Amino acid sequence: MKTKMTSVVTLLIATSLLFVSGCGSSSDSGATSEDGGSKPIAVVCTTNVIKDLVRQIGGERVAVTAIMDGPGIDPHTYTPSPRDTNALTAADVVVYSGLHLEGQFDGALESLNNRGIPVICVTAALSSESPGRLIRSEGGLADPHVWFDPDLWATCGESLAAQLADFDPAGKQEYMAAAAAFAQQMAETKAAAIERLRSVPDDRRILVTAHDAFEYFSRAFQFQVEAVQGISTESEPGLRRVNELITLLSEKKIAAVFTEQSVSDKNISALIEGCHSRGHQLKIGGRLFSDTVGADGTPEGSLAGALLHNVNEIATALAADAELAQ
Ligand SMILES: [Zn+2]
Repeated sequence: MKTKMTSVVTLLIATSLLFVSGCGSSSDSGATSEDGGSKPIAVVCTTNVIKDLVRQIGGERVAVTAIMDGPGIDPHTYTPSPRDTNALTAADVVVYSGLHLEGQFDGALESLNNRGIPVICVTAALSSESPGRLIRSEGGLADPHVWFDPDLWATCGESLAAQLADFDPAGKQEYMAAAAAFAQQMAETKAAAIERLRSVPDDRRILVTAHDAFEYFSRAFQFQVEAVQGISTESEPGLRRVNELITLLSEKKIAAVFTEQSVSDKNISALIEGCHSRGHQLKIGGRLFSDTVGADGTPEGSLAGALLHNVNEIATALAADAELAQ
């Protein structure tokens, strides 16, 4: 019995140390901001999608920066530099997406945890939902690209608010009010997107992109989604996959495929060339935000703006095709 208890305790310790890669819970230091909140809390995020979320929920109580803060940065493959590690270490709180989106950050995040720096995972609440809304591969791996389903992103906002309130209890009311307003904003964004996409008929709702970042989008807005690469950009696609997509696009006469801000256009160019050689004039329908939002100060700098940008590009390219096909 004693041995069994010891192994349970060992397991619990091991589990708590593993939270970084599993994204199970926040590091609850119980700390409060030094002077009751008059000085903004320095929050360092991994991606600019997270930076937007922290701004929305943290408001004036936080000063936010992101390590990967540009439209061309791919979070699956980005390795933090020593300068990035210093920036993370200097933060009051670090916020990341989780579900292995930041594939090369596990070591850096774990060392923050060891130093006692609070680390917040915004998808923690989604991971513990039952029944869950995460999309999982056959092997059980969760797809990290949850932000393009506004319902899921609202839940991440609520989870972030609760975890920020753990760190800064004086701000709890503000965080909770901001999360409620954010959920409302997400509901309105979803309604606007559904309305804009109404012009795309069911048989044209096929979204082909460079990497598989749009499964949640497709579930929320009823698209069939196909990608050249999987949910991470780390592995190169096979020729077979490229040929499968060329066949699908040519046979269904899909007019457009989409490039992404954070992924090379190389594979999309291969689809266009392949379709042209089969006599199907495929074109690029637009450039979508996938793992990043736009620059600060632009409408696309927020998740809502980036999502509506994507929806506009998709509706314009695929609905126009529908008119031509009639
Ligand atoms: Zn991705």
